[in-house]
Amino acid sequence: MPLTLPERALERLRTARHVVALTGGGMAATSSVPSFRQAHTGEWAQFDVSELATQQGFMRNPRRVWQWYDYRRKLADSAEPSLAHYALVDIEQHFPAFTLITQTIDGLHWRAGSRELIELNGCLRRARCFEAGHVLSSWDEEEETLPPNCPHCGSSLRPDVIMFGEGLPDWELKRARHAVEQCDVLLCVGEISAIEPVSSFPFLARRSGAQVISLADDDSIYSMLADYVIVEPLNQALPALVQAIVGGENTRQVA
Ligand SMILES: [Zn+2]
Repeated sequence: MPLTLPERALERLRTARHVVALTGGGMAATSSVPSFRQAHTGEWAQFDVSELATQQGFMRNPRRVWQWYDYRRKLADSAEPSLAHYALVDIEQHFPAFTLITQTIDGLHWRAGSRELIELNGCLRRARCFEAGHVLSSWDEEEETLPPNCPHCGSSLRPDVIMFGEGLPDWELKRARHAVEQCDVLLCVGEISAIEPVSSFPFLARRSGAQVISLADDDSIYSMLADYVIVEPLNQALPALVQAIVGGENTRQVA
């Protein structure tokens, strides 16, 4: 697939020292991970979002909220990283500095091999305790006593995911902003939720002198803010971008 990016844009990208990629729901779709709305069906449709995905809902019925996220964790775990996920790993390995900022919670960037990763909305594969904030990547659970308790302090575990009405974590947000301000090129990859402060990242990057490239299946709001726009399915556009950066054939295949 020929890449619809002018040579001067490619040259700027090839010589970049710090590249930042921003991903969201569009990335999850490349692996067919159901979105919140797509998962909110069947037996779950009887519950309001406020009952399933808010801290108040968790306090009212922690077991139900835990099971909802457990259901979504299983959906994510049964998906495989896509060619687009792997292309971002290749990009990370190519540049001296790279930061991947994601709104996805499915853990697929990590499973693909991305390591310079800021998960702004948390991750389904982790839990943290309600009282002290201890973060766990594995835990024992028994059907009768859900949610499980924290092995360190005994308080109830909750998904390590930002629920509706909760702010983004300060530390991650600070790191993300810093990366966007420092980068030479910002890649806005696929559909990204247009919610502050993430929606202002393209402005922030441009103000700091970075080149902004939007890659999306359709016209996204970020297309209007970008210096260059690539409208192609991400599973084609990102591997093609890797090929254009490093040259030669990108032969990676999904196992
Ligand atoms: Zn704890």
